[in-house]
Amino acid sequence: AKEQGRNTYQFYTEGMQEREVRRLELDKDLSEALARNEFELYYQPQLDLATSEAISVEALIRWNHPKRGLVPPIDFIPLAEESGRITEIGRWVIRAACQQLRKWQGTSLAKLGIAINLSGRELAEADLPDFLAACFREYGVEPGRLEIELTEESFIANIEHNHKQLRRISKLGVKLAIDDFGVGYSSLGYLRDFTVDQLKIDRSFITDVTRRHDDAVITRAVINLAHNLGIRVVAEGVETEDQLRFLRQNHCDLAQGYLMSRPVPARELPRLIESGVLP
Ligand code: C2E
Ligand code: CA
Ligand code: CA
Ligand code: CA
Repeated sequence: AKEQGRNTYQFYTEGMQEREVRRLELDKDLSEALARNEFELYYQPQLDLATSEAISVEALIRWNHPKRGLVPPIDFIPLAEESGRITEIGRWVIRAACQQLRKWQGTSLAKLGIAINLSGRELAEADLPDFLAACFREYGVEPGRLEIELTEESFIANIEHNHKQLRRISKLGVKLAIDDFGVGYSSLGYLRDFTVDQLKIDRSFITDVTRRHDDAVITRAVINLAHNLGIRVVAEGVETEDQLRFLRQNHCDLAQGYLMSRPVPARELPRLIESGVLP
């Protein structure tokens, strides 16, 4: 068990002390990973259901670990959020997304937008809006090409400060999306207080949307609510043709999920997008 423990970042079954040691190790590894440029953004297309074209992609971070191979975010983002390392990682993500948008200029992907994930802790950093503005300037990227996905918690936590931050970011022209909508402590007030551009219905509602009456009712209600507020709706975790049909019939705007494509490295995107992401 000890051997196995050494090769993984799973903490659950350990004692407090062992856990603490490993957390420090992982944080040090993350710091080195940044220095060695071991992170990579994978991109998952978001399909416009009206035109069946991919109009944007969500950037999802991966860690190309020299020994462990491709490490998924669930194995390091939560700890990075606790330790604060997420700030540096998040800055890397923003820069990488801007670089990518820059590279796509003048190519067949020039119109594509990129959505990045930002944790509440990153949002709280006072200099985030300035950092974003500096990146747009440095890479000559139009701010409207970038969308920031935040969970409902980020809108609700640390309200006064975060609201100020969100306003400053909105002012830059960056788009805002609410991630995992419906599973958090929904307080719909923030839909009124902010210029939210997009709302992402959590995968847990989509999985059984064609089988469970309740999920269908909730999904339809969310779509209607969003549309009446002028907000676009994305369905996450679309895996079947039936789910896609349901979403089309109910006027959902965008769909994202394994049915269209898994997240892929940047080099695979041109072919994927040009050939059309629908199966
Ligand atoms: P999320 O933002 O809710 O991202 C959606 C997750 O669902 C991704 O997992 C994606 O690969 C997965 N997914 C997409 N389509 C399907 C599908 O059809 N079926 C199923 N079962 N899963 C699907 P991933 O890439 O492992 O990311 C997990 C979480 O890690 C993300 O959840 C997000 O909260 C976080 N994350 C990823 N990249 C970043 C980042 O750059 N910064 C921050 N702060 N968090 C990130
Ligand atoms: Ca997301
Ligand atoms: Ca999500
Ligand atoms: Ca999530």
